[in-house]
Amino acid sequence: MRVGVLALQGAFREHLIMLRSLGVDSCPVTRAEHVSDVDAVILPGGESTAMVRIASGTDLFARLRERMDGGLPVFGTCAGLILMADRLSDDSLGGFERLGGLDITVARNAYGRQRDSFTAPVDVSGLADPFNATFIRAPQILDVGFDTEVLACHNDRPVLVRQGNLWGGSFHPELAQDPRVHAEFLQRLGATV
Ligand code: GLN
Repeated sequence: MRVGVLALQGAFREHLIMLRSLGVDSCPVTRAEHVSDVDAVILPGGESTAMVRIASGTDLFARLRERMDGGLPVFGTCAGLILMADRLSDDSLGGFERLGGLDITVARNAYGRQRDSFTAPVDVSGLADPFNATFIRAPQILDVGFDTEVLACHNDRPVLVRQGNLWGGSFHPELAQDPRVHAEFLQRLGATV
């Protein structure tokens, strides 16, 4: 199994390091042709406005969306979640192509500004002990569709969701020095980690 990490901007190195620590073959994804080579993709946190600008005018998102629709497992974290949301509460990314696919509504930056960043223990379905989740200018999941399963909440709001092959989280699982969320995603794909 080979996991690609979208590497246009943001915390992609931390995801690559986490995957390597789990013994999983991984590679950066920056172009449409890289998408053909991978069995799953992680979309990192960072700045979604930068990511959509960098990807615009390329086939990268169209190719990724095509493979998502064909069942490719994709996990979007923070800005990555914003890229995957079917609906945003404002049009701050207006005009730029995103991925969509995950039947949720997301409000960008709804947990506050950079200085309001925080970590909080969250109970994640399938994990025996709470996961210390890091929220950085995080998007808030306002609603989830019928087929979207909520895997973790913070203050009664979903912060980790799954819809078939698609996973989305509003926090940064790669910053926790704790590979359990990555391992859950990978194990449900059949990887032995
Ligand atoms: N606020 C960022 C955005 O809107 C996301 C923050 C993050 O990924 N840590 O893209």
